[in-house]
Amino acid sequence: MTAKLIDGKAIAQEVRDGVAAVVAKRAAAGKSKPTLATVLVGDRVDSATYVKSKGKACEELGMGSVSHYLPADISQAELEKLIKSLNDDKTVNGILVQLPLPSHLNEERVLQLISIEKDVDGFSPINIGRLAQKGREPLFVPCTPNGCIYLLDKMGIQIEGANAVVLGRSNIVGMPASLLLVSRNATVTICHSRTKNLPDVVRQADILIAAIGKTEMVRGDWIKTGAAVIDVGMNSKPDATKKSGYRLVGDVNFEEVKEVAGFITPVPGGVGPMTIAMLMKNTLRAAEIQDK
Ligand code: NDP
Repeated sequence: MTAKLIDGKAIAQEVRDGVAAVVAKRAAAGKSKPTLATVLVGDRVDSATYVKSKGKACEELGMGSVSHYLPADISQAELEKLIKSLNDDKTVNGILVQLPLPSHLNEERVLQLISIEKDVDGFSPINIGRLAQKGREPLFVPCTPNGCIYLLDKMGIQIEGANAVVLGRSNIVGMPASLLLVSRNATVTICHSRTKNLPDVVRQADILIAAIGKTEMVRGDWIKTGAAVIDVGMNSKPDATKKSGYRLVGDVNFEEVKEVAGFITPVPGGVGPMTIAMLMKNTLRAAEIQDK
């Protein structure tokens, strides 16, 4: 292995310790407990797992959490009513609606309704709009892309002037990651399912962020020697040696790419833990903004 392993688990733990320390100080000063409200619609197993781990993280850091579990057939009006009541609830600092929502619901309208000061996922049109505009600052940056940038910074990887390639253009990961890289003065190429000659484009990358949800698609011979590779993908790969019958792998072929890259995140233990750590940071920030 030639690449340096980026230990997202350890780096996320440092972030969490920092958040926990501030939360404890707030408690000692008689300030409120930063509190996250999560909203889960339906019974998707993966979404339920994510929501549970977000609530658990709040508890571990001395923060509060309230979970709202809603049936898959809830109406748009009922969901909007809940969001409005969470906006008005002074004991709630952050609101997270777990995506994706069932297809009969209008996701855009729901995200638009979340008060900008409580938008800890950073997906409201105002926060994303500010992220896209030069010289404007969003109140909250989406957690997974922010976690990717945090890892690059922590490893001392220069973003300014780098050629960055982002695989994927989703609202949740690819697009905000690209906007963040541009705001840090990287030269960014955004790739998607219609991109031609993908391996050739990826070969130009000093920094690669892969977020396509395709098992180990990025091969070793796509990588520029010494590149920093951040693998966001979380895919199940059949593995008979595991009790569950599968294991988690990324969008990058780790075994091949680690021999060429300068830095690489593992899956699991790379970007995943950073997402929750950044959410905790955003929830604390929300409480601090609302103190004022
Ligand atoms: P989406 O399915 O919303 O988006 C996938 C993107 O990849 C799209 O832009 C799509 O292009 C592009 N794409 C798909 N196939 C190809 C291909 N063959 N070549 C090039 N581009 C392609 O996924 P998400 O952004 O939500 O998630 C991506 C991955 O990241 C998933 O594995 C997900 O589980 C993981 N994830 C991990 C998180 C973490 O905390 N670690 C958090 C969130 C997601 P097009 O736009 O043209 O359709």
